[in-house]
Amino acid sequence: MDHFVYKDNTLYAEEVSVSEIVQQYGTPCYVYSQQTLERHWRVIEEAFKKHPHRICYAVKANGNLSLLKILANLGAGFDIVSGGELARVLEAGADPQKIVFSGVGKTESEIRQALIANIAVFNVESLPEVERINEIAQSIGQIASVAVRVNPDIKADTHPYISTGLASNKFGINKNEVLAVYKTIQQLPALKAVGIACHIGSQILELTPFEEALTCVLQLIQSLKKEGIFLEHLDIGGGLGVCYDTENPPTLTAYADAILTRLKQEAPYPLTLWLEPGRVIVANTGILVAKVEYLKETESKTFAILDAGMTDLMRPALYDAHHKIIPVKKTQQKEILVDLVGPVCESSDFLGKSRLLAIQPGDFIAIRTVGAYGFSMSSQYNARGRAAEILVYKNKATLIRRRETVQDLLLPEKPHAFVKMQALGNDFVLLDLDENPSLWREEKIKKLSNRYTGIGFDQLLAIRKHDANQFEYRIYNADGTEAEQCGNGARAVALYLCMNSKVDPMQAIYLKTGNRVSTVKRLSEYRFTVDMGCPNFLPEAVPLNRAAQTHYDIVLKGEMHRFSALSMGNPHAILKVQDLENASVATVGQALCLHADFPRQTNVGFMQILNMHQLALRVYERGVGETLACGSGACAAAAIAIRDGDCHSPVKVQLPGGELVIHWSDPKASVWMEGEAHCVYQGWVDG
Ligand SMILES: *Cc1c(COP(=O)(O)O)cnc(C)c1O
Repeated sequence: MDHFVYKDNTLYAEEVSVSEIVQQYGTPCYVYSQQTLERHWRVIEEAFKKHPHRICYAVKANGNLSLLKILANLGAGFDIVSGGELARVLEAGADPQKIVFSGVGKTESEIRQALIANIAVFNVESLPEVERINEIAQSIGQIASVAVRVNPDIKADTHPYISTGLASNKFGINKNEVLAVYKTIQQLPALKAVGIACHIGSQILELTPFEEALTCVLQLIQSLKKEGIFLEHLDIGGGLGVCYDTENPPTLTAYADAILTRLKQEAPYPLTLWLEPGRVIVANTGILVAKVEYLKETESKTFAILDAGMTDLMRPALYDAHHKIIPVKKTQQKEILVDLVGPVCESSDFLGKSRLLAIQPGDFIAIRTVGAYGFSMSSQYNARGRAAEILVYKNKATLIRRRETVQDLLLPEKPHAFVKMQALGNDFVLLDLDENPSLWREEKIKKLSNRYTGIGFDQLLAIRKHDANQFEYRIYNADGTEAEQCGNGARAVALYLCMNSKVDPMQAIYLKTGNRVSTVKRLSEYRFTVDMGCPNFLPEAVPLNRAAQTHYDIVLKGEMHRFSALSMGNPHAILKVQDLENASVATVGQALCLHADFPRQTNVGFMQILNMHQLALRVYERGVGETLACGSGACAAAAIAIRDGDCHSPVKVQLPGGELVIHWSDPKASVWMEGEAHCVYQGWVDG
């Protein structure tokens, strides 16, 4: 059952007319029904209610964030097959303890990413993978939960490309070797065997293969028990088929009954049942709407040429799959026999063959049952941007993925790509010099900094690779002059490097600027902590023409002021104030900055202590004036507050541009500055 029905000869998605959707969003577009999705979830939950179970939706069937969020809100677990899918489900708010990671080719970084996210279990598919997971888990001090995916050597009567349970397939571990693999897992210090899994294929229309696979797995559980190996769960994968045309798949109730009956009869001890359904949950929830561009009559047949093709829906080309095709508006015109094809330059580019349809050029048609393996398999072949996706709930249609634009297609190939980031009120443009050597000229930088001829920014960060996890960057002001390091830039550089996979985000990142190398560590996706070095309170380090003291008194414009001074690689004078809002930052800041006692001028911080772990700060930066945020200034202020006993580490520093957390627990060690950086824009500039 689904929610795509005709009213007055017009196709509706729930209560919204598909014609209206097409008018607003264009074609080709995928349209999903939320009520259909929710209903399928409830039916499958209900079917397995009698037995402890966990349903992990197979994300590869359809990974749209909005659909994943709906499922996550319903309590779904997720079956993922890549780091990309992991990022998707985490973004959608999935509970990591309900995530299972399947797939034969997990890379080191994907495994690490999953361990850090603390997922429930890795379904392992080979001995080398088992060893790799153990090694990585050990290196980061974790225990990884694993389940062996068994290849039960069972033939499921489905298309050979979607059969996975045969000994000749690349999937799973041969049932004869499973016992040995569990024994190996027992020996490995960073692994814990918690389950056993199998998945024999997709679009399976009979119960027998599932029952046989289950029996095979239960026999293995029995043998493991004899060896003293006990498991918590049994995962029977996904694979239940749906009706595309005339198929008659088992109902979810029949499927559940068959499995639960056998489980009850044959399980040597109680086990939680895990499932990984994909297709059966989402296939029916979506249609693909396309426009008839031309009717082309040839000697042998008539082609209806659509604006959608194999790039939007690959299943017919890949598996010879059949999808029902219906008109968006039913008319009284005569039906004609047509092959529905796309614009792509391949003869396999068809969506339906020999269909009787009453259609004219300009009409819209809907291809049914494409919610699973539809959009998720789409491509940009022939430089075609991927289709828009729209979600309907009752009388409301929402765009959940905009149509891909030409810019989306070109961006990764543009040599002069840039990223704009903001970190605490500073905006940075990041350019990779290794990729953009010609932009490395002063007049070019000036042009880029101008918002009419370029991008506009506070500072340009020009990055160059030094070594693995080691990069060098130079900082340019908008006027083309080179600037000193402020600390906020380091987080932006680190985020840029992580986003573009130029560094291993689990390791420390080393960033050289001027003659200083700072260490940066990633705390979470957008949060970093930067080693800002050890503060130096000696006057000659600042430099300051005074004899060393904790506090210095000075008369500025006829008024007495007291300040502390230190170097954080650059000079800082810090004044304590009671009323930060009304502090004379501009006048006092400028007077102290330019005072003859500071031969190289100084940055001036005005701080108000709020409590033992919090202070507020405004900074007058030398050569600039008051700014929204200064990273080294925040470190300097916190260091003074900690030294004087006004605060204890860590100290939250509130700046007009946002908040930083400063850690300084050992007077002889570095100050660490923790804060966020965010990517706000990506684009490219002319070369
Ligand atoms: C593809 C896949 C699924 C989902 O299959 P459906 O046929 O969509 O239910 C489940 N588990 C694994 C390991 C898969 O590869």
